[in-house]
Amino acid sequence: IKTIGVLTSGGDAPGMNAAIRAVVRTAIARGLKVKGIKKGYQGLLNEEIVDMEAKDVSDIIQRGGTILGTARCLEFKEAEGQKKGAEICKKHGIDGIVVIGGDGSYRGAQALSRLGINTIGLPGTIDLDIACTEYTIGFDTAVNTAMQAIDKVKDTSSSHERCSIIEVMGRNAGYIALWCGIANGAEDILLPEKYDYNEQNIINNIITNRKHGKTHHIIINAEGIGHSTSMARRIEAATGIETRATILGYMQRGGSPTAKDRYYASIMGAYAVDIMLEGKTNRVVGYQHGEFIDFDIEDALQMEKGINDYQFEVSHLLSI
Ligand code: ATP
Repeated sequence: IKTIGVLTSGGDAPGMNAAIRAVVRTAIARGLKVKGIKKGYQGLLNEEIVDMEAKDVSDIIQRGGTILGTARCLEFKEAEGQKKGAEICKKHGIDGIVVIGGDGSYRGAQALSRLGINTIGLPGTIDLDIACTEYTIGFDTAVNTAMQAIDKVKDTSSSHERCSIIEVMGRNAGYIALWCGIANGAEDILLPEKYDYNEQNIINNIITNRKHGKTHHIIINAEGIGHSTSMARRIEAATGIETRATILGYMQRGGSPTAKDRYYASIMGAYAVDIMLEGKTNRVVGYQHGEFIDFDIEDALQMEKGINDYQFEVSHLLSI
């Protein structure tokens, strides 16, 4: 392997820049050439490929988003597009690619690997919904951003003795909601993996809390459940307590990455280059039990994970 490419794909996540920087600098330190591929697989097909030197990644570790840009590319889901992508890699002398993204992006990496381009995936998503790893690049920053926003909503909610429903991101996974629920001391936490869609339980909980003298009632609702605004209307009608919905939205995806995201993304970026140099391909990097490890992409995609029952139970115990 003489030249490697790096791309970011799927949704952006804070810490992706730290990973790009680590890939570029580790590769250069190991004597490789590096090419940055802009806008994910779409940029590969459009040949938006630039040479990258160590200085091209200076002053980016603290920036949110991804300097390479990201995109979704339907054409790359087709065999024809994948073949074209592999040919473009060969034309540019790219022997391997580090793909930073989610499950969908690993499918693309798998396809390229079958066509002779060595690929290593890094878990880049704020949602933490990648089964082979306990950590994904961007989750820590997103949770901290959401937690700080929820603290602010809680201040005004208490002052006005309101009930607040705050909707956080995470797509079909409830990890951001669970973490915020515990970190913000929410009264109710609604997770797609656990919610029974029984609003009467929430209503009863609000009424009981009010009787016990609580001035606020914070409900963290996960994006995968959604409908926060209509839920607020129904809860207000049933309880007579003013209820507002706040949907935090894309602000959770932006901002300067936390130390944890910068640190883990840096190690993972370096690790990806080093295992590629060992001859590995079609692998995805994960973090489990204190170690950085790697899995076959197909095996990783077959794995499943869910919300830890004990941690979910604790979130209830602490909300009385
Ligand atoms: P996120 O979870 O942040 O959205 P993701 O990587 O799962 O990230 P997707 O939109 O699923 O996001 O995938 C990103 C890109 O990866 C797609 O636009 C497409 O180019 C490529 N991709 C997705 N699925 C496949 C597939 N089955 N085969 C080849 N390429 C794929």
